[in-house]
Amino acid sequence: MKLKVASKILDANERIAQDNKKAFEGAGLYVVNLMSSPGAGKTSLLENTIKGLAGKSMVGVIEGDITGTDDAVRIERLEVPVVQINTGGACHLDANMINSVLNDLPLAELDLLFIENVGNLVCPAEFKVGEDIKVMILSITEGHDKPLKYPLMFQESSALIINKIDLKPFLDVDVAKIRKDALSLNPSIKIFEVSCKTGEGIDAWIEWLIQTSNS
Ligand code: MG
Ligand code: ZN
Repeated sequence: MKLKVASKILDANERIAQDNKKAFEGAGLYVVNLMSSPGAGKTSLLENTIKGLAGKSMVGVIEGDITGTDDAVRIERLEVPVVQINTGGACHLDANMINSVLNDLPLAELDLLFIENVGNLVCPAEFKVGEDIKVMILSITEGHDKPLKYPLMFQESSALIINKIDLKPFLDVDVAKIRKDALSLNPSIKIFEVSCKTGEGIDAWIEWLIQTSNS
């Protein structure tokens, strides 16, 4: 019985996600649903990406957090349109939450919209919000066991960004295993090793994003 209820919720979510997608397509907008554990570097990646896309693409951001506006304030400093959603306890964004803020962004003026999901390696991957692609970040501080422990997010993502690669000399983490296991779950996942702190690898990610969003 409980399972039945859960699947109905997902069905309803799917319908609203399709409405959102139509609105995004109508505005000529490419949408990236950005997911990771708390602290993996979603907002830092967005800051780097927005700077890298300056003069190339008009970017907007929807920030999802349980509470607070810290991340939206960081994005606002870069002078791009940003809306904060507080889920009030929910550990993921759903399509209805995104639908409720569509009129708060100048969609027609934007080329790219990033939706920063709530920090959580589990259920954000289960809920479509109307995105074109999902992208996930894994910090190497989280360890190399995460792909096999949390397979769905790796299976759902078009790209895996392995962040904080600058910390590799200080950690007993097997980055090759992260790559191998992610590829075993999702052979077409595109993998980038980056450091949002030093800027290493960010260019390759941005180049791929521009290509992918234009194809
Ligand atoms: Mg954040
Ligand atoms: Zn959740």
